[in-house]
Amino acid sequence: MNRPARTSQLPVVSVVGRPNVGKSTLFNRLTQSRRAIVDSVPGVTRDRIELPVEWAGHWFRLVDTGGIDFDDPETIPRQIVEQARVALASSDVIVFLVDARHGLSPVEEELAEVLRRQEVPVIVGANKVDRPELESEAGEFHRLGFDTVVGVSGEQGHGTDVLLDAILELLPEAPDELIEDDAVRIAVIGRPNVGKSSLVNRLLGEERVIVSDVPGTTRDTVDARLKAQDHEFVLVDTAGLKRKGTDKERIDHVSRVMAQRAVDRADVALLLIDAAEGPSHQDAVIAGMAVDAGAGLMILANKWDLVDDQEEAFPRLLEAIRRRIKFAPWAPVLTVSVKTGERVHRLFEGVLRVASNRSRRIATSELNEVMERAMQLHQPPASGRGKEFRLKYVTQVGADPPTFVAFTTGGAPHFTWQRFLENRLREAFDFEGTPVVIRYRGGKKKGGRGRR
Ligand code: GDP
Ligand code: GDP
Repeated sequence: MNRPARTSQLPVVSVVGRPNVGKSTLFNRLTQSRRAIVDSVPGVTRDRIELPVEWAGHWFRLVDTGGIDFDDPETIPRQIVEQARVALASSDVIVFLVDARHGLSPVEEELAEVLRRQEVPVIVGANKVDRPELESEAGEFHRLGFDTVVGVSGEQGHGTDVLLDAILELLPEAPDELIEDDAVRIAVIGRPNVGKSSLVNRLLGEERVIVSDVPGTTRDTVDARLKAQDHEFVLVDTAGLKRKGTDKERIDHVSRVMAQRAVDRADVALLLIDAAEGPSHQDAVIAGMAVDAGAGLMILANKWDLVDDQEEAFPRLLEAIRRRIKFAPWAPVLTVSVKTGERVHRLFEGVLRVASNRSRRIATSELNEVMERAMQLHQPPASGRGKEFRLKYVTQVGADPPTFVAFTTGGAPHFTWQRFLENRLREAFDFEGTPVVIRYRGGKKKGGRGRR
């Protein structure tokens, strides 16, 4: 997958290990002077920080899992293991850092045990190998049972290239382009004849086009950049709209392929539907593609000029949309007429709101207040075999779209409770227009990993 990504969407590599092995030093060396996102997780004292790293043309996020509270030596081993659990839940690759100058400590043996029991690939970094001739000291750590052991020196920089190569090898989906500008990327999608080309032509004709017809990053896509409401927007793959098929089946197929390509590269999908005809099955299929890709979704009910008795028609249309597109009751709906221009300019406000909700980050403490209230309100039913389910805590591990990991005892709760929890989250925080992802971790049962 070579789609461009925002920092918050990059695959995640976490550095774990006991205190003083050199995690922060290595993190600083690999990330140099980028701007960090900081968050703290209950039970894990120093803040977690994360930064984008580029190596050999591919991008990932590096996470420093945070420090340990030395004031309470009793709890240090538990904190180390707890940090590793958080890292496991949110990472695509783990770097387990040890100090090559020391032997293994008991807590490192325990950590290795925890890391071996799951599926996230682990690289052992034997740190403080300050000179190449000390490399052999790293060999001892093969007995931890992981395939890859790399001798590094976070302080001197030695071996970090080998470590980065090893990381990339295990990250097949590392994007080769990082989107660092603030322009909101819009995909205009919908089945044939709903007015997509007309909309794009109108927008490009009316708004200030900054650079149009910029070749996109993927071959034969054409993005157009424009300015509205004091913000920049990119209409992705406008050329795709011109590609039209002949027979009906082919047309539907082409519009799905085009929609897939566009939503993969967009922040917000604008789904056009025909307001006069009402929502169809095909509209729902295309909406589903946007949601699955993690794009925000806004529905434009176009051709509103063809609708009689609009006041009465609107609630009926809205109900039909909610019934058809059941999985996204949070998507805003705007009636427009591309032909007359009625309300078309309003789409930019909506898109900005959705994009900002999709980037929203919630502090762990705030999140857990909401979760606690949700637990008190409605105890989740045990999932199947009557094991007690308890929510330990929830933490946000990514944005664009907001992605959370819920740590539980007793595995994942019943589906209805998962929906209940998502609804409480949506009540407490504004996530209008964006999918949110909640993954459940915990309990004895393996599986349900749900990698990004
Ligand atoms: P953390 O607690 O795991 O984050 O470890 P730090 O990054 O704070 O490092 C702990 C100590 O090890 C510091 O005194 C570092 O200067 C030292 N250190 C870190 N990396 C290296 C290295 O590659 N070689 C040597 N000799 N010392 C290192
Ligand atoms: P696309 O296949 O989704 O790109 O749709 P087009 O932009 O080619 O539009 C299909 C047809 O719908 C054209 O004949 C347009 O003129 C017409 N159309 C687009 N928007 C509107 C609208 O708001 N009202 C009416 N009445 N017709 C529209």
